[in-house]
Amino acid sequence: MALLTANKVFQMNGVTVSEKIIPDGIRWKDGAKAQKAGFSAGSLYKKQQRLSGGTGKVQGVTIHNTADLANVHDDGEQYTRATYNENMGSVRVHYYVDDTGAWQNLKAGTGLCANDPVGSAEVSWHAGDGSTPDGGNMTTISMEVIMGDTAAHDEKAKDNAARMAAWLLWKHGLTIDKLFSHTYWVNKSAGKHFADVDRQCTNPVRNQKWCPTYIFGSSNPDIALKNWKAFKQLVQGYMDALNGGAQAPTADAAGTLYRVQTGAFSSKANATAYAKKIKAAGFDTYVVKADGLYKVQVGAYSKKANAEAQMQKLTAAGFQAFITTKSGTPV
Ligand SMILES: [Zn+2]
Repeated sequence: MALLTANKVFQMNGVTVSEKIIPDGIRWKDGAKAQKAGFSAGSLYKKQQRLSGGTGKVQGVTIHNTADLANVHDDGEQYTRATYNENMGSVRVHYYVDDTGAWQNLKAGTGLCANDPVGSAEVSWHAGDGSTPDGGNMTTISMEVIMGDTAAHDEKAKDNAARMAAWLLWKHGLTIDKLFSHTYWVNKSAGKHFADVDRQCTNPVRNQKWCPTYIFGSSNPDIALKNWKAFKQLVQGYMDALNGGAQAPTADAAGTLYRVQTGAFSSKANATAYAKKIKAAGFDTYVVKADGLYKVQVGAYSKKANAEAQMQKLTAAGFQAFITTKSGTPV
């Protein structure tokens, strides 16, 4: 069971993305598995067609939730490996996202790596609406957000998804109303249309997928609506930040990340206590272990200027901070 090797690792709006795009021309090998998924050996392993009638135009981002895998650190890697091993049935998605980052399985037209040029966004298989020309499969980028882990990991996974959704909407010139839930497409397939897009995103359809389940956080539609709106607000916040910036964030050539660090402790308890203080001051923070020390960091950036800006904010709030390119293991 060897772990997959990414073709390329890069940053999308502060999230580490491992690119493992299913190459064009790949076909089903295992006849039994293929048949179970509704195909046959020799069928194309992905739709292999650009979005929106072959134009590659992205018309939205669809959010799903899938379960966290017990005792697996990088869940996206495992889901991607299951995809390559023909164990995911007919499901093909653009991104698997967890607390550690994301794995990309299909072209999303981002231009962030050589295998994913601008204009190349392709069809994924996730919305349960087949080849409906204006359906979720044929027009949107799909994201499986892996949750159901600890509360802290779930928050981080959700935040990573929000950062990526914001970047994708922004990159493709879309507004927040083009952020869809899986359930939005379930409603459309069931012939239900709501003037309020949020209602359509959270209206339960009997015996059909209720997704993203963890983000909805309840089987009560009113609570789900509230939680979905909160998630959208998180995405909107990241979109606002991007719209305030002059240009698309792209990783520098070497893929170096500039990490803002504000403390290092030999005791995990002290590091965690300090991280709490930083968080209380309004900063997103996390603790990594490197060289035997617990280091409190406040963001990783592909652009040094962004890291410097964050460092200045910390300093202004009365915390010492510096920039390091050294990574560590999340704790
Ligand atoms: Zn779903």
